[in-house]
Amino acid sequence: MENSTLAKPGTKVVRVGPDGSAWIEGYRCQACGAVVTVATMACRSCTSRTPPAAFRATDHGKLFSWAVVHRSYPGIAVPFVSAIVDLDDGLSLKGTLRNVEANALRSGMPVVVVLDDAGGTHDKHGASYVGFHFVPEGAHA
Ligand SMILES: [Zn+2]
Repeated sequence: MENSTLAKPGTKVVRVGPDGSAWIEGYRCQACGAVVTVATMACRSCTSRTPPAAFRATDHGKLFSWAVVHRSYPGIAVPFVSAIVDLDDGLSLKGTLRNVEANALRSGMPVVVVLDDAGGTHDKHGASYVGFHFVPEGAHA
């Protein structure tokens, strides 16, 4: 029987193993090596129809672009940094970058992925969700 209280992926790129460990999963084209976050029936780069291979993404990357968000929905603390990060294995992810002052943001700054509790919400069985955010390399999660 499935363990209904085991944490669940909070986003489409997160995977949760049977032991509760979590990671970011990407897909790599077996013909050209292009990487994407979602498996498609044909590679977006070379149009190969060979099914892409899933891989466990690295948690290290570099800040590609960002926006400091000053207005949001009620209950969402502002300001926060919405970032696009290029992981070292080629995957690009969008997420929140925490623990950094806006004036310290630099293109190419090293960041790490932190898997988190996706805001602390639970489903009706009490299972938590696993999401992710980024922090500068060397900062605390
Ligand atoms: Zn390809």
